[in-house]
Amino acid sequence: MANLEHIKISEEAKNFLASNHQLLIDGEWVSSTSGEKIPVFDPGTEAKIAEVDSGNEDDISLAVSAARKALTGEWSKIPSHDRAQLLNKLADDIDTCLPLLAELEVLDNGMPLALAHYSIAGHGTTLLRYYAGWATKIQGDTIPVSPGGVVNGESITYTRREPIGVVGAIIPWNSPLIFAILKLAPALAAGCTVVLKPAELTPMTALFLGELIRKSGIPKGVVNIVTGYGETAGNALSHHNSVDKIAFTGSTEVGKKIVAASVGNLKRVTLELGGKNPVVVFPDADLDKVIPGAARACFFLQGQNCMAGTRLFVHKDIFDPVVAGIKEMAESFKIGHGLDPEKDFGPLISDTQRKRVMSYIQSGIDEGAELITGGEMVGDKGFFVKPTIFTQIHGDMKIAKEEIFGPVLCAQSFDNNDLEAIAQQANDTSYGLSGSVWTQNISVAHKMAMLINAGQVSINWHAAVDPAIPFGGNKQSGWGREFGKEGLEPYLKTKATSVIF
Ligand code: NAD
Repeated sequence: MANLEHIKISEEAKNFLASNHQLLIDGEWVSSTSGEKIPVFDPGTEAKIAEVDSGNEDDISLAVSAARKALTGEWSKIPSHDRAQLLNKLADDIDTCLPLLAELEVLDNGMPLALAHYSIAGHGTTLLRYYAGWATKIQGDTIPVSPGGVVNGESITYTRREPIGVVGAIIPWNSPLIFAILKLAPALAAGCTVVLKPAELTPMTALFLGELIRKSGIPKGVVNIVTGYGETAGNALSHHNSVDKIAFTGSTEVGKKIVAASVGNLKRVTLELGGKNPVVVFPDADLDKVIPGAARACFFLQGQNCMAGTRLFVHKDIFDPVVAGIKEMAESFKIGHGLDPEKDFGPLISDTQRKRVMSYIQSGIDEGAELITGGEMVGDKGFFVKPTIFTQIHGDMKIAKEEIFGPVLCAQSFDNNDLEAIAQQANDTSYGLSGSVWTQNISVAHKMAMLINAGQVSINWHAAVDPAIPFGGNKQSGWGREFGKEGLEPYLKTKATSVIF
């Protein structure tokens, strides 16, 4: 299963991985001040594939200074049409390198190659082009103010939307390139400058992107990339008093630390955090759609996906066939290295993550849930865990409440038609990111969608992701929204200018 003999890495990928990976500061690749390195591993083989510089507080300060200087330099004078063109050109450059970028993403993150292609071409460059379109549409209002009162004469006020300033972008490892682009695209469209801190486990494609940006015509210092650990580089960036906004995607635990760190200069913060998302299936649902839909909802990216539908609620009349169908699909996934085109289910990101997932599986067993498939590691190289399904779930079990971030589905049945009671079960978690409702009855579908406390609910599919659809969490799943027009707003501030004639 995890036979890795046949995994072939292209010469281009080998050359890139073997090169000296430094920090991108003020348009130049520079060594970290500490001289320390971070090893990077292929989660499919456990082999070390590269090492990157370990940025620290001093490196973050240099990067923030470069971003601050660039904010009011040439970048601020570039007309919005040209800013849009630069983003579109960057998307074209990414498209040109797509096969290599996808290969690097697989080696760094473990995702299957087809998925890496799809995510970069289908989401990454689409996002850049979408936000390129917004660059020319950022505009304020004019507000007629009545004469009289304190104003003696005619007066008008207009508002300008200005870039929020220097953005610190801190991203996770589960879709590394997409998250880099998701932070950069709206920030650059708005005219901000950025210091990007990729996840220490998956820095490679962000660094490749850095070189594309360096050659793209985007002025130096507009995008700076500091690889480093969360507790050092990430912590320094979120505390830095010359950073105007932190755009963070990651765990709820670290999200809370980011909020605490923002207090120093009251920088703005947006947070895209964890999820424990419900998939609610009514008895009239089309099982031919529900079964593959619910299986993908949970097992996509090996469950290392904030939107993963890991809590399945199925009406008792169809519980057995739905669960049997998902089990059959789970057992049919071909587990193996992402570069093997035959495989469609990759490894978890690291040994730590695998241990974490296995300990949740053990806790499910210990708490009395029934393990109906999976629950095991696979092979002796690579961090593979079989897709796992539990039934006999109670809402207060650890596996039913906490985000596992692995391929573990908790299936429960319900036996009434009281939508509010079903929603109460679905909402019984501290998260509120996404969810889905499966039924042919439009009233039930929309009522249930309203009752689910989440930033996004899909009907008869799960996790609708599109650059134009706002996405973000309620409760402890986050603050603010990304994607769409709403995703641009946090990168802008409003100035009101009033004139008296
Ligand atoms: P993480 O919170 O451990 O790390 C995320 C980033 O924060 C990394 O770059 C890390 O280096 C950095 N970091 C760690 N400690 C820090 C600190 N003290 N100060 C500043 N930065 C710090 O998360 P992860 O393990 O990389 O990713 C998995 C988590 O991300 C899951 O909880 C998942 O649900 C969440 N996630 C959310 C979304 C979303 O859009 N809502 C998307 C993907 C992942």
